[in-house]
Amino acid sequence: MSKQTHAFQAEVAQLLHLVTHSLYSNQEIFLRELISNASDACDKLRFEALNNNGLYEDAPDLQVRLSFDKAAKTLTITDNGIGMTAQEAIDHLGTIAKSGTKDFMSKLSGDQKSDAQLIGQFGVGFYSGFIVAEKITVETRRAGAAAAEGVRWISGGTGDFEVETITRAERGTSVILHLREEALEYANTWKLKEIVGKYSDHISLPILMEKEEWQDGELIDPNDENGGRKPGGMVKTGEWETINKASALWTRPKKDITDEQYADFYKQISRDFEAPLTWTHNRVEGSTEYTQLLYIPSKAPQDLWNRDKKAGIKLYVKRVFIMDEAEALMPSYLRFVKGVVDSADLPLNVSRELLQESRDVKAIREGCTKRVLSMLEDLAKHDKAPEASAEVTDVLSEEDKAKLGQYTKFYAEFGAVLKEGLGEDFGNKDRLSKLLRFASTTSDTVSVSFADYKARMKEGQDAIYYITADTLAAAKNSPQLEVFKKKGIEVLLMTDRVDEWALNFVHEFDGTPLQSVAKGAFDLGKLQDEEEKKAAEDAAETFKPVLAKLKEALKDKAEDVRVTSRLVDSPACLVVTDDGMSMQLARMLKQAGQQAPEVKPVLEVNPEHALVKKLDGSVHFHDLAHILFDQALLAEGGLPADPAAYVKRVNALLS
Ligand code: ADP
Repeated sequence: MSKQTHAFQAEVAQLLHLVTHSLYSNQEIFLRELISNASDACDKLRFEALNNNGLYEDAPDLQVRLSFDKAAKTLTITDNGIGMTAQEAIDHLGTIAKSGTKDFMSKLSGDQKSDAQLIGQFGVGFYSGFIVAEKITVETRRAGAAAAEGVRWISGGTGDFEVETITRAERGTSVILHLREEALEYANTWKLKEIVGKYSDHISLPILMEKEEWQDGELIDPNDENGGRKPGGMVKTGEWETINKASALWTRPKKDITDEQYADFYKQISRDFEAPLTWTHNRVEGSTEYTQLLYIPSKAPQDLWNRDKKAGIKLYVKRVFIMDEAEALMPSYLRFVKGVVDSADLPLNVSRELLQESRDVKAIREGCTKRVLSMLEDLAKHDKAPEASAEVTDVLSEEDKAKLGQYTKFYAEFGAVLKEGLGEDFGNKDRLSKLLRFASTTSDTVSVSFADYKARMKEGQDAIYYITADTLAAAKNSPQLEVFKKKGIEVLLMTDRVDEWALNFVHEFDGTPLQSVAKGAFDLGKLQDEEEKKAAEDAAETFKPVLAKLKEALKDKAEDVRVTSRLVDSPACLVVTDDGMSMQLARMLKQAGQQAPEVKPVLEVNPEHALVKKLDGSVHFHDLAHILFDQALLAEGGLPADPAAYVKRVNALLS
């Protein structure tokens, strides 16, 4: 193939522009990205070679070599991994296959630090080379292909790139960066060693650099030992040395690993810039043997909500990398966990399909799930200092002190995802329920557990009361809460979108039933005294004729109309039947374009309210009835079916 010019996919061109203009203060990440690509390429070779040993040709030792040429102003990263065919080079280095690139672009903020973080998360690694290079040449040959099938790819990182066929004896890829004038500092052994130490120490692949040694400058005047020399310098010796640790961190004993090393390793595998919140590292022995090193990030990734997002677990078998994103190893509701599982039992040629069925994998998945839950339980337990007083915090160990506030942090980022587990993982439902936290009518912060709530329950109270709403403000101001506020009964306020769904799976906590204050008939049981009950019954009796008329007027909108003692200040509210879908969930489903059953709520009226008292005998009865209903709907976040009619009715009454 002779030289061809290809245009970059529009997104790539745009991305390149952003990469080169916004990542300036974080230049050095380019090396981590390119080394990580090289390491992936070696992993791929190792994996393909499991079924085709010939791919190793005569170079079975996989490695990455860094070299530079000061005079030519180049820095080269060479791997002897899988390499690329011409078509692969065109496809992989000219387009962005991943969906969500547009999304990615729109999220770039102009703030270099957070943008750099995003670049990592979206895996646009190769293009980061253009931060330091004005031109990149890639020379590559696919493992197993003939030497004559080598490829050269060249681009200045703007509109297009060139590809041509070359002869390349060695398998694998060389990425040659033609350094910008301002980036010449990277053509330096110390600089490169420093960056490798920072980002790529734990890559299990050796990274090699040619050794240098000092050589005095040439003697010009033999009579003048000091002054008569040309300046000396470092020269290459032709001997290569490994500059990273190249040992898989998780195989080392815990006691030999510092927190900093754990955090660095996390950054490397997660491409996150922030240190993890916490981690757990264990060798599990028994019927299945494996090592797990699992991390909880400090911050949720942008695409946390994508349920198709694969788990963040890398699977190794006896230290050989097998696959990324091994979703079979972690339930979907723990998809935010990152880490490594290294199994001693699985076959090396295990496929994703096989993983789904393997009993060993099932055991690993259960083991990892339990570990993550224990880790969270531990954080939850140490979240608050017992009395948060100085004396108490002072006696805490450093380790426990570090855990203060951590669970709250975790929950703010990942709590909503954790709730998915209630419907997904029945075996751990009880443990998960204990990990839930909510805001409540006595706590604005999301910090109340079911156990906290139970401990504060009133004498005679026999249910855990809650309300779901779109926002905290809407929840707090719900008319349904009025009587609870009056009586000083705490109500949990649930405002996560998943709450409604998740609560379908939790009907009680530790023997106490959960009761929505917007569902079912109002019954406070022993919390209501005889007098109140009597008054309610009397009101129901006197209101009977009015209720019958209301029911008739609203028969298309309301399932039923009844009086209630739920309300104090509001004239009316809507509730659904005990097993009915809440109005809020029905609305949410509709918004999401899903089928939702038509929910016909019950209208409850407050017999003590002036407006309700006015109904009887009013010439505006019909309008008032509809206004009551539509207002109740508005109050709980819905919209009248016919807003214009509502406005007309209100205006008629106002004038
Ligand atoms: P990512 O690595 O996240 O997929 P990159 O932009 O870094 O994104 O790389 C795009 C693709 O180019 C890779 O997925 C891989 O197929 C190919 N590639 C990049 N570097 C190499 C390399 N050193 N050897 C083989 N293939 C590579």
